[in-house]
Amino acid sequence: MEFDLIDRIRARVASRPDVVLGIGDDAAILQVPAGRQLVVATDILNAGVHFPLDTASADIGWKVLAVNLSDLAAMAAEPAWCTLSLSLPDSDADWLDGFLDGFLDLAARHHVALVGGDTTRGPLSIGVTVHGLVEPDRALRRDGARIGDDVWVTGTLGDAAGALALLQRASEPVLASACEAGPILPADDAVDPHIPEALSDLRLRLDRPTPRVAIGLALAGVARSGIDISDGLLADLGHVCTGSRIAAEIGIDRLPCSQALAARFGDDRRRELQSAGGDDYELCFTADPSMRGRIEAIAAETATPITRIGRMVEGEGVRAVGRDGVLWQPRQSGYVHFGD
Ligand code: ADP
Ligand code: MG
Repeated sequence: MEFDLIDRIRARVASRPDVVLGIGDDAAILQVPAGRQLVVATDILNAGVHFPLDTASADIGWKVLAVNLSDLAAMAAEPAWCTLSLSLPDSDADWLDGFLDGFLDLAARHHVALVGGDTTRGPLSIGVTVHGLVEPDRALRRDGARIGDDVWVTGTLGDAAGALALLQRASEPVLASACEAGPILPADDAVDPHIPEALSDLRLRLDRPTPRVAIGLALAGVARSGIDISDGLLADLGHVCTGSRIAAEIGIDRLPCSQALAARFGDDRRRELQSAGGDDYELCFTADPSMRGRIEAIAAETATPITRIGRMVEGEGVRAVGRDGVLWQPRQSGYVHFGD
């Protein structure tokens, strides 16, 4: 079965001049430009863990590449090539065609060539490795933040987690009403979670995240450190703090919020989703305050909001503070796959 599927993939992939040898041999051969460093990232998506079981295959295809491109964006690397490991329960050509629609659509937007992979039978699981390029010492790392840096985030936070919360409510209304988080929706919320359209704008952010590639590239030489928000802002900014051996103080009420999220969740729940919810794939980065003008220009050029949410300070860990200056704490910070 694998060969039919591999042929289907091979027939649709686009190449680029620096692919010396693509799909078909034992390995691909790629021409790395002189004087640039290779940046490599891998992410796996498992059915039921990283995407709801009913997710359309085109959305899965988009998302598995998007989460990988997001890692390159967070390093300020320019995406170039990728490989694809598919574990599929059966040889379903329709599923694969849909998957390739989403995957290759996003690949084309970023001029990424699919140059190889592996295809096996097994539980639905998809792994992608992306390869990007960066000028030496221009990558944004987690250990580059300094005391006094501003902390910034792109886009809006909490939408993907909001979609998941609504999906879980729709499928398990009894569980949700007994949820210790209290009422999830404000009293005046007229949205019926059983109507699919009620979810659609948030669900789009869950299923079709936008990797912030152009912003990441523009931040090389502007930001000091960066990370993408996959596990939740507090957890991911926490990695920057650990890597840089300093602390962050953020304003919990300064976190950028979409209209869709604000319309469906009360303040407490919204704060929780925005700070601890995963899957947004926005960038969080730190930069010297002298860079504020440059960062505002990048926001204008990319037509994407970039919001200053706090600063790096002495100490360790992330402190979130409310408008009133009072310390704010989430019940849970970030998704832990192998946690207790
Ligand atoms: P091998 O036995 O040498 O690993 P395979 O039969 O697994 O060869 O793969 C044949 C060719 O097809 C290789 O070039 C491999 O990179 C490519 N390939 C296999 N699966 C995929 C996939 N899911 N996406 C892209 N290329 C693939
Ligand atoms: Mg193989």
